[in-house]
Amino acid sequence: MSSTGFTGFTLQFRDLPSVRHIARRLHNYPDVDMGPGRKYKFHLRRQRIRISEILYSGKRTTVYLGRCKNETEVVLKFTDTEDILEEAGAYDVMAAIQGKAVPRVYGALHGKDRRGGNMSCLVMERFGMPLEREFSTLTKRDKAKILDNLVAVHHAGLRHLDFAERNVLVEGDEYRIVDFGQAEEHRTPCKWTYSFLEHLDDDDVNDDAPCVDCEAIKSWAEQMRFWDHGNLRLACAFFVPKSDKLPTQSVIDSMKTVIGLDQDTIYYPEQTRQITVRYFEEIRRRMTAGQSLQELQEQREWITYLVHKQWHDERYVLCILHRFGLVTDLFV
Ligand SMILES: [Zn+2]
Repeated sequence: MSSTGFTGFTLQFRDLPSVRHIARRLHNYPDVDMGPGRKYKFHLRRQRIRISEILYSGKRTTVYLGRCKNETEVVLKFTDTEDILEEAGAYDVMAAIQGKAVPRVYGALHGKDRRGGNMSCLVMERFGMPLEREFSTLTKRDKAKILDNLVAVHHAGLRHLDFAERNVLVEGDEYRIVDFGQAEEHRTPCKWTYSFLEHLDDDDVNDDAPCVDCEAIKSWAEQMRFWDHGNLRLACAFFVPKSDKLPTQSVIDSMKTVIGLDQDTIYYPEQTRQITVRYFEEIRRRMTAGQSLQELQEQREWITYLVHKQWHDERYVLCILHRFGLVTDLFV
């Protein structure tokens, strides 16, 4: 019997560098006895787990990479015991969507620190890496996958309450939502039935439709810009109505360029907007004339230069006209 009262698993921290991390507080570190609690089932055989790496280290939380006897990699998250219990409870509620919308969780292990206090960790499958891009920059299909996962969490009966890029893991083209320490019960069953993946062609959504009756999901879909509401976003800065003179949003996103090339000119926002629109109109003209996207991407600095040159030439003429009182507004 272990002196901590918890048995079954030995976590061996011998391969870690000598830096500060939470598990150093554990009784008998670096060979620590821990065991499952009574409340939630633990889905791994009792064994020694070799801890090989620190994946994340913060003030309250450290996440470790461990290797089981059969070489399966697991992730162990140590944080405040209460939060671990909350999170283990949340994953228990989400049993049906583990390995799909959220990672597979093996359960929680408990042990003691050197002063006899409780310490706990959550043990889960290793899955991908945290998303390091803003949601709004993802393709519509990827946004749909993440949003459908969020819907699955709601249907399991939970609201995440700390949903953000850092709490989404990506591996290949699959996503999982993590970090349910602050999750709350979805008080009434979630009424959302709109599948994002099945509506990739939607530009808009009817706010009053019963299939989109959950404010939390709708607000995330809007923040991610899943629906463009008939607008294009140019250079991340402003919106213009879709038109047959402009390319699609995905072409626009892949043709970003620098606007405001002349260092002696102070470009007013309306002028920047004007040049940006002209630049993308030129891209659309060239695509219609048969140029490939790859060709255009390679030539984008040259195209940007040509668009600026034409704009400055026109402005030069305008300035002369203005000097002779023939035009009054230089910002048009
Ligand atoms: Zn909901």
